[in-house]
Order: sequence, then structure tokens, then C-alpha cells
Amino acid sequence: MNAGIKAQILAGPPVAAALLADAAARASRLPALPHLVIVRVGDDPASVSYVRGKARKAGEVGLRNTVHALPEATSQAELLALIDTLNRDDDVNGILVQLPLPAQIAEAAVLHAIDPRKDVDGFHPLNVGELWAGRPALTPCTPAGIMYLLAHHGVQVAGARAVIVGRSHLVGRPLAALLLNADATVTVAHSRTCDLGAVTREADILIAAAGCPGLITPEMVKPGATVIDVGINRVVSIEGKGHLVGDVHPDVADVAGMLTPVPGGVGPMTVAQLLANTVRAAELQHAVRSDVALPETGVVGELAR
Ligand code: NAP
Repeated sequence: MNAGIKAQILAGPPVAAALLADAAARASRLPALPHLVIVRVGDDPASVSYVRGKARKAGEVGLRNTVHALPEATSQAELLALIDTLNRDDDVNGILVQLPLPAQIAEAAVLHAIDPRKDVDGFHPLNVGELWAGRPALTPCTPAGIMYLLAHHGVQVAGARAVIVGRSHLVGRPLAALLLNADATVTVAHSRTCDLGAVTREADILIAAAGCPGLITPEMVKPGATVIDVGINRVVSIEGKGHLVGDVHPDVADVAGMLTPVPGGVGPMTVAQLLANTVRAAELQHAVRSDVALPETGVVGELAR
């Protein structure tokens, strides 16, 4: 297996470090260091770990951060009241509500309640609409991080055939918009796509975001293609040890031109992009308060004028 690896492996951490350095430099030019508030409801172990990681990274790059850890029984009204307070607080630049939420809270109601100018996850309908209109202000972190990774490695996006496997609101759909805005010809595949291999073989840039371990096999990949593996799947080996694998079979490294590893590929980009979005949100709010024109922000940048 994999004896003749030829793909260039695109490790995430050095690229994430470049993105963070840029974000930190921009933050230092603002009148106050950007402040990210993360809200977590309940004690889901994965959420606890994700929130801890995001807060730690924010601290490392010098952003102010606050975590509100609310009990599992928190009502929707209580959460919405907290979001309202954070929306009104000029000292808060970014608000992230860690998903998933407990069953008694409607996710859509919460995501719609966040001020679009503080919506560092980019899930508010106004930000989603602006992204599809080609005027993104705050963009979902994993797709935006993937675009940064592609640009960093000089991958030609304009004119390329891009295929995304997965159509979630978190990854597939916003990534389709970003690639389209960057002049790729984009196909979005999903669980009902017929002959997935025939579709993926067309891709110069193939992004796997399905949550299916090893879904993409070598014969599904055009030789020399850039393959981005978004999948994070916990599997248990025959020795009973748990480990993380992606959606791309390791033997794809024999065919692809470039390939992101799992772990250590897209994952670090997601956290870095969250902090870059926090700086972006602070820039947006500062520009609005001081009446400075900030280009390419569409309606979101105009909200408070
Ligand atoms: P999701 O909401 O479950 O969506 C999965 C998508 O993949 C759906 O559109 C589904 O199609 C499609 N799909 C599932 N099985 C398929 C198959 N056999 N063939 C073709 N399409 C298939 O998942 P998600 O939130 O987008 O996450 C996807 C993966 O990325 C997960 O492993 C997740 O852990 C990982 N992830 C990683 C990061 C990171 O930072 N690295 C961030 C976010 C997510 P239907 O729509 O037809 O059901």
C-alpha cells in the first residue's frame, strides 16, 4: 500500500500559522484587540474539546476571548437573551454558538439571532445570501480555510473543474459558492449522485466532505488532481485502538498531485479561519463606527449606517 506515494502532502499547520500571523498583524492595527465570545450549552465531550481548542488558539494569537458554558437544561429564551446582550455589547466583536445544541433549542432560531456583523461562523442567512451573491463578508470557517490553503499552495482555481462531495450548510454549500466566486466550474455531489466515481474523475480539484471513511478511492481520482480531505471519522482498529481517518483512501496519494492529510490538514485551517473571521468582524465594526468605507462587504457592512 502506498509504496510509490507521489502526491505533495499539504500539511495544515504551517498554512494555518501564516493565516494566524496575518490575522494577528491586522488585529494589532485596530483600536482594541478583537474579542471573541464562544457560547457552549451542555457538556458534549466533543464540543467541550472544540471550544477549549478555539479559546486556547485565540489566546495564543493575542485575541481576547470569553467562554460562556451554559447548563444542558438552558432554554431557548435564555440563550436568545444572552445573544441579545452580546449583540448589543460594543466590546464583543465575534459571537460563536458551538453546535450541536440540546433538543429544546432550535438551531435556526439561534443562528438567525446573532448580529450578522458578529457572525464569525458565517451561518446567518444574510451572510449566506451575500456569499452566494458574490459579496462575502463573514464566511463559514472550514470552506474559507480551504480556499486559503489552495491559494497558499498556488492551486489554480479559476477555470478548474471542482467537485465537492457533500452538500452540507457547514462545508459543501458554502465551499461551492466560494469556488464559484473564484471562477471554478463547480459540481456538488451527494448521497443520491449516480456514478460518483465518474463525477469525481472529472475534478481538477476534488473536495471530499461526506463523513464516510475511505469513500474516495484511487480509481475515482484524476491523475494529478488536488484532493482536499475534509472528513474526520473516528474508527477503531482491529487492535481496538481509536484513531481519526478522512474520507479519502490513503492510496489516493499514489494518484493525486496534492493531498491534505487527516488529521493535520483542513482541521487546523478551520480554527485559524475562525480567528481571522473575528478580526474581520472587528474591522467591519470599526469601519462602520468610524464611517470608513470597507469594500467587498455588501449589505452586512452597511447594516449599521
Ligand atoms: P454532513 O452534514 O453529514 O453532510 C455530509 C454530506 O455528504 C451530505 O451532503 C451527504 O449527502 C454526503 N454524503 C454522505 N455519504 C455520501 C456518499 N456515500 N456519497 C456521496 N455523498 C455522501 O457532514 P458535514 O458537517 O458536511 O461534515 C462532513 C465531514 O467533514 C465529516 O466527517 C465532518 O466531521 C468533517 N468536518 C471536518 C471539518 C474540519 O475542520 N476538518 C469541519 C467540518 C466538518 P446527502 O445530503 O444526500 O445526505
